[in-house]
Amino acid sequence: MYNSYDEKGDELDAKYSVESLRGGFDLIIESRGGSTGGRPPRNTDYARALVLHLRRMAEFGMVLDDLQVASSDAMRLPEKKRKIQPKGYTLPLELSTVSDFDELRLAIGRVTGEHETKSKKGGNRTKRLRLRMRWTDASSMSADSIATMLAQSDSSEEPTGDPKELSERVERARNRIRSKKAAPPKGQEKVPRTTAASDRYIRDPKVIAWVLEEAAGNCENCGSPAPFKRIDGEGFLEVHHVRPLGEGGPDIIENAAACCPNCHRRLHHDSAKNRIRRKLIASINRLKDFPVKI
Ligand SMILES: [Zn+2]
Ligand SMILES: [Zn+2]
Repeated sequence: MYNSYDEKGDELDAKYSVESLRGGFDLIIESRGGSTGGRPPRNTDYARALVLHLRRMAEFGMVLDDLQVASSDAMRLPEKKRKIQPKGYTLPLELSTVSDFDELRLAIGRVTGEHETKSKKGGNRTKRLRLRMRWTDASSMSADSIATMLAQSDSSEEPTGDPKELSERVERARNRIRSKKAAPPKGQEKVPRTTAASDRYIRDPKVIAWVLEEAAGNCENCGSPAPFKRIDGEGFLEVHHVRPLGEGGPDIIENAAACCPNCHRRLHHDSAKNRIRRKLIASINRLKDFPVKI
């Protein structure tokens, strides 16, 4: 079970869970419970959470295929009798076409109320709901990651100073954009700074200087001249550790190569980076293939 959060990231009193399905998932929103029988009220932010979830799922381009009451009483009924149809809406419903989510929430509330009267059971006015969502991206995700993804809207994601977290968030945001419904980001006018301590290697500037001199303005990987001149007139090249420091590579000239920014990025991120690395070592006499040491 997960907690819902509002747009600012504040926790709401509303729990939900996710079950994976082929080509989608079920979102189960826990019912609101009154303070009956000495029990404290539960899920008091049910209505707000339902609206937020609907809006978020619309951002992802999800389709509401089917809606069911899922309280324990209702679960005794055959599935056909659990299905509800909010008046004024046709299922399957492409959520991005909905303009007023409060209106949809009210329609859902009315139809669950009617279901209540028909089944003649007392108890919760707001029922536990099962929203069957269609979303092809769900096939490659666990129920857990879908649930976490739904927990926060795009706007509530705080900017981060952690490079690893940042790149993970960039990936998630790109997936959202690919699912075509994400609005262009607002960004931030005032950029906050962090002074958080981060693990950085203290590199020897003499090694960098020696390697740059040796390269004499040409990339040691592709042989091309530096793509542009620095302010001081020197060609711009970056010094890369052929066996990364993070893998235990030494900070010595036999493990350092001057590269153009393009080759440098490729040595880090190209899908064929290992092949490029071996080729670089083979083509520069100075370089040695240091083993991974962790
Ligand atoms: Zn290059
Ligand atoms: Zn590098």
